[in-house]
Amino acid sequence: MMKESTLTPETAVYRRTVPAGDYWMEVVKAGQTLRILDLEGNQAADTLFYAAADPAERYSAIDTIRAQGNVYLTAGSVLMSTETRPMLTITADTCGRHDTLGGACATESNTVRYALDTKCMHACRDSWLRAVAERDEFGLTKRDITHNINFFMNVPVTPDGGLTFADGISGSGKYVEMRAEMDVIVLISNCPQLNNPCNAYNPTPIDVLVWD
Ligand SMILES: [Zn+2]
Repeated sequence: MMKESTLTPETAVYRRTVPAGDYWMEVVKAGQTLRILDLEGNQAADTLFYAAADPAERYSAIDTIRAQGNVYLTAGSVLMSTETRPMLTITADTCGRHDTLGGACATESNTVRYALDTKCMHACRDSWLRAVAERDEFGLTKRDITHNINFFMNVPVTPDGGLTFADGISGSGKYVEMRAEMDVIVLISNCPQLNNPCNAYNPTPIDVLVWD
């Protein structure tokens, strides 16, 4: 569902550009609003959420899909935790649909899906592993990397139940916005994938904004 935000960038308390292939990891407090802005269009932002009070509680794709009875995420979606508590609510969305089935890219899956010589290409899972190593104050490790949301990524489910990585439906200036329902650690990998059309074969930067 398309829904425009009522927030203006001028009133944001935080704004940062995240290049493709880099990560963003910060705490968003309960009541704050987070916006991910697709600057140039057709980009994918692979995102994980953890409860700041106890990161063992984290985003659950399964519980989110079951709670809303739909596999796509958009305005109105409540992102549920592994303890079936609301973590964030998507409050605005000008893209229209986000994926939580396809998973993040990894060098291993690239090798299986594409070619052996993709093994050395940077992937979202590498960015997440770098994040948990560099930002060890969050207490996360490799074992905490679980299922995620691919904001802006277009992964349609076919009539017979298959998954396809299709060309993006996002565009320059499109955004998704969510209100934190608890203090959450947000870990975004701005996807560097070059082997499928999720980034239009041209990974580009995103902006992250936060409002109080
Ligand atoms: Zn990726």
